[in-house]
Amino acid sequence: MAPGVDPLAPDNHIALMPGVLMGTGAPCSGRFEAITKSPLTGIMVASSCGGPFGMALKTAGWDGIIITGKADAPTILEITDQGVEFKDAAVLWGKEIPEAQALLDTKESKSLVIGPAGENGVRFANLASGHRFLGRGGIGAVMGAKNLKAIRATGGKFVIRPHDPAKFKKLCKTATRYINRNPLSADRYRNYGTSSNAKPCNQAMILPVNNFQDGQDKVAVKVFGETMARDHDTRPHTCKPCTIRCGHKGTFAGEEMSAPEYETIGLLGTSLGIFDLDQIALWNRLCGRLGIDTISAGGTLAWVMEASAKGLVKSDLAFGQVAGVDQALEDIAFMRGFGAQMAMGTRALSEKYSGREFAIHVKGLEMAAYDPRGSFGQGLAYAVANRGACHLSAYMVAQEVYLDLLKPDSAFGKAKWVKFFEDLTCCINSLQTCQFTMFAFLLEPPLSKYTPKPLLAMLMQYLPDLAIQLIDVSLYQGLWNAATGIRLSKREFLRAGERIHVLERLMNTREGIDAKDDVLPLRMLVRGRASDVQKKVVPLEKMKAQYYRARKFDQKGIPQPECLERLGIL
Ligand code: SF4
Repeated sequence: MAPGVDPLAPDNHIALMPGVLMGTGAPCSGRFEAITKSPLTGIMVASSCGGPFGMALKTAGWDGIIITGKADAPTILEITDQGVEFKDAAVLWGKEIPEAQALLDTKESKSLVIGPAGENGVRFANLASGHRFLGRGGIGAVMGAKNLKAIRATGGKFVIRPHDPAKFKKLCKTATRYINRNPLSADRYRNYGTSSNAKPCNQAMILPVNNFQDGQDKVAVKVFGETMARDHDTRPHTCKPCTIRCGHKGTFAGEEMSAPEYETIGLLGTSLGIFDLDQIALWNRLCGRLGIDTISAGGTLAWVMEASAKGLVKSDLAFGQVAGVDQALEDIAFMRGFGAQMAMGTRALSEKYSGREFAIHVKGLEMAAYDPRGSFGQGLAYAVANRGACHLSAYMVAQEVYLDLLKPDSAFGKAKWVKFFEDLTCCINSLQTCQFTMFAFLLEPPLSKYTPKPLLAMLMQYLPDLAIQLIDVSLYQGLWNAATGIRLSKREFLRAGERIHVLERLMNTREGIDAKDDVLPLRMLVRGRASDVQKKVVPLEKMKAQYYRARKFDQKGIPQPECLERLGIL
């Protein structure tokens, strides 16, 4: 794709890729990814989903598809083992996601569909497959701009066999054993879902409250995962296949619906000053029907609430007030009135109306629900992530908050850890196994399991180079080797991840991204959280310089020839 392409122009491409492990039966491997240029950020975006479309695509015999151009009229792309066909989608256009899915999905055929938000060009419109979403960066708007309402794959024609079935089976058994004995995967996420993050995040003061003005609240217990399980009869509602099973549904406001994930609780709940799980679940369902990313929607509404309180925009939305939010979400999806402005996202609003200092985004992508002032490594990860303020490029919160393995308020060594986890995450995303496998796959092998925790934490904190050398990634690498027959050493495996990360960075640098964009919202750099007596802020510049050195980028954040040659890119 040429640099400078308008994300909503026909020349933008969307790639849809089931992972290497899709269909093999490996634990948590039912995931696929969409990659395109984002209309929200103007740079690359990739988003992963565990809905059934990926399996249908792969078992129809397709390792991936790339879509470009634009249809003259609303269209469905039909994919079978025989080829592809474009069909008229007039009957589907304008329909909300569940209605469209009801017309498209059968036992064998599974769709990927946009809602009204995608049709109308909302910059953070998502795509749905079953009850799971490709949420971030507005990929739904890219599909809508192509007049593509849905893609439907009819699978079940191919069986996916690993290259070395015996070895693969053995590794899957080990992987399942590790998952089933790891406290985070087998207890916390399986029983309480990602909403279980709310409690440790509130304790660590990194739960967004009122547009990240604070990081905790005395009534936050109302949105803890444990509270949700107790009061809302939650039960599994997951990606498939999955061994961890973090996804849940439950009874909210008297109806059965998907349980909100932690990010939704944080952005479309506590960051709006709302601590009512019934209400958050209803907004989550509304966003799911309209096809809107809950993180960006919540981030945008929180900015509007603060801007309105400061008199920068005229809106009835206010922190802690439910009234008006339903209407605002509908207005965004249908681009009505001020909704058309909100549909452009936080960055665009703050550039138009001022209020940049409290616009909580990086590179245009609204920040996930972890305040980096209580997790410095996460702050660096947000600043340098290739798709913007993404928590998943290097999920440092896990090491800094959940596991107590790295000091959350220290900058020391964080650059090396962010680089390591970025590279590993690119590997995991290419396998398309769920990132939540990391807890079990990295912590259950004997070396990490039987090293006393204080020693492990000391090693990780003070000797990051050595600790990184010792980390056992052999399950991921072994699954790759056994599935494909292409043998990679640990070094080669991680280098493949590094190559992916740097290629993404190059895609961004040719769009003008450099060190000036690897930043955090001003609020995170100069103002402490209301509850934090020490008023900590993120020491970003120091970590950023170390990160560029570790990556072999120059001071402007541009990959240098030495880095590109080593990775075989030049
Ligand atoms: S652990 Fe959760 S996010 Fe991961 S594959 Fe399973 S249900 Fe999906």
